[in-house]
Amino acid sequence: MLGFNKPYLTGRELDYIRDAVEREKLSGNGFYTQQCQQFFTSRYGFKKTLLTQSCTDALEMAALLLDVGPEDEIILPSFTFVSTANAFALRGAKLIFADSEKETPNLDMNHVRQLITDKTKAVVAVHYAGVACDMDALMDLADKYRFFVVEDAAQAIDSYYKGKPLGSIGHLACFSFHETKNIISGEGGMLIINDEKFSQRAEVLWEKGTNRSAFFRGEVDKYNWIDIGSSFLPSEMTAAFLWAQLQEVDAIQKKRLTVWNHYFEGLQFQVKEGHFSLPIIPDYSTNNAHMFYLVSRSESERNAIMNHLKKQEIQAIFHYLPLHSSPYFHSKYSGRELFSAVRFSECILRLPFYTELSEEEIDRVIKSIHQFYNS
Ligand SMILES: *Cc1c(COP(=O)(O)O)cnc(C)c1O
Repeated sequence: MLGFNKPYLTGRELDYIRDAVEREKLSGNGFYTQQCQQFFTSRYGFKKTLLTQSCTDALEMAALLLDVGPEDEIILPSFTFVSTANAFALRGAKLIFADSEKETPNLDMNHVRQLITDKTKAVVAVHYAGVACDMDALMDLADKYRFFVVEDAAQAIDSYYKGKPLGSIGHLACFSFHETKNIISGEGGMLIINDEKFSQRAEVLWEKGTNRSAFFRGEVDKYNWIDIGSSFLPSEMTAAFLWAQLQEVDAIQKKRLTVWNHYFEGLQFQVKEGHFSLPIIPDYSTNNAHMFYLVSRSESERNAIMNHLKKQEIQAIFHYLPLHSSPYFHSKYSGRELFSAVRFSECILRLPFYTELSEEEIDRVIKSIHQFYNS
């Protein structure tokens, strides 16, 4: 079976984990945590970064930092992973689902504009497949209507909007290092704080509501419970694994882009035939080769290709089921139709995609798709 995902190892993960163990500091915020956090501030110019145990954690921290409560409305795409929504649902916020653009699964900013009210506390921009949302349009709205922007950049490491790294534009941003992402640590994530007014409190929430970080820097003489918080830090073993990955980010990205381009070129024939379309990367965005998908003409055709590939021992998958019509949410939903979100949900097919996918394996997938349309 040609699997859908396969974690890539640089070869140095175990060395760094061993070193972390030998340093006899196994809990969080030690040497490797600092190394990773500094990597991001220096390479991408993020103001402040805090490693977390997942992107889900980072999103939950964002909701806490923004003091989101039952009076607040949060605008987010319906076509996204459940954590984008859960972080704010946990705080009792009212979720306002927006549609995707026609061309990409990213937020349709015209629709977002229509959904803004004086209760809008934040808009969560998910950079689907690492492709940037139209951030200028969103930040203009944020300035005008005074709401916060959280980037769910789970899939968007090392991708750029008009030259700015994704994760550096919103007030807060979240990365994932889950094993299905470009850069991994098993489970793992990071909160990025670009608006400095959140920096201090972010550290407190991160350290279970205490000022322990300030204490260790010698800024206070004892540490105490000063706010709410939770246990969001990953252990040093997780950070050590991540550090091995981060050192190879350029090599990993180069390999992934080669895989992506090979698929893109190999499937052009089918695109010209009008059988399906391929991802559209707007001029303002780079491509970080997070995933490769096609958009078929209908749900039944998508499922037929998927089953054909499965018979040939190729694992292709689809996602996401739109959140506005999910079992948990549909009874709370306003009823407004979200055509693009539904279309992407029904028609996207994700092909096997990982850093070490070989040219032969990609060709096997492409051939299999050609075969589907020839029979
Ligand atoms: C993967 C993903 C998440 C969740 O990341 P975890 O690190 O697994 O918590 C959230 N949002 C999006 C868009 C994702 O792709």
